[in-house]
Amino acid sequence: MTILRRVHLEPQTGAGFEIRRGELLKIIDPEGEQVSDLISFARADPAEWLSSGRTIDYANTIYLTTGHVLYSNRSHPMWTIVEDTVGRHDFLLTPCSPETFAIIYKTTGHHPSCFENLARHLAPYGIAPDTIPTTLNLFMNVDVLPSGELRILPPRSRAGDYVVLRAEMDLIVGVTACSAELSNNGRFKPIDIEMLATMEGASPASEASRAGPATHASA
Ligand SMILES: [Zn+2]
Repeated sequence: MTILRRVHLEPQTGAGFEIRRGELLKIIDPEGEQVSDLISFARADPAEWLSSGRTIDYANTIYLTTGHVLYSNRSHPMWTIVEDTVGRHDFLLTPCSPETFAIIYKTTGHHPSCFENLARHLAPYGIAPDTIPTTLNLFMNVDVLPSGELRILPPRSRAGDYVVLRAEMDLIVGVTACSAELSNNGRFKPIDIEMLATMEGASPASEASRAGPATHASA
């Protein structure tokens, strides 16, 4: 397994990058109890995006883990979850945004958010903010009560836990270290990202020919 690229996200930041079909994306929670929002768009046509609705429909569960395929709005496989050391993630809720903090937290003034971080780092790839859909919120722990009420609990992830996703098409990807107090048990931690080449996937040589903007990682 060859590491093609590493990206370190400081707390409350995000990154945008490309990944090729067959490559693996490893999202690591280095300190534990930290959510990481992930979204992706088809490199060939960014009007095709990772769909919570399609994925939950076809998996027939809201709790996605190893073996599940994540589908696009056009019902094409975008990712397969190949490893998951936690087993509890959320795909119901949108990325935290300025409005999230105004409406739910009653925050006044600016608060960092996943939506702003995704919008900023996906802009160089031509992704407009209004086209960012529901994110796959890795490590986010949302319980659904019998009444339908949601409970946001501390993530079950401990230091070093991770998820590995295999890209099933060439993708533009946005990832964050989430900025919402409630989702992260009140403390903001970093997220580490690794892109890995597999024997059956792309070789490191293909990295050299990778086109498009460089990785955009900052606050
Ligand atoms: Zn967030």
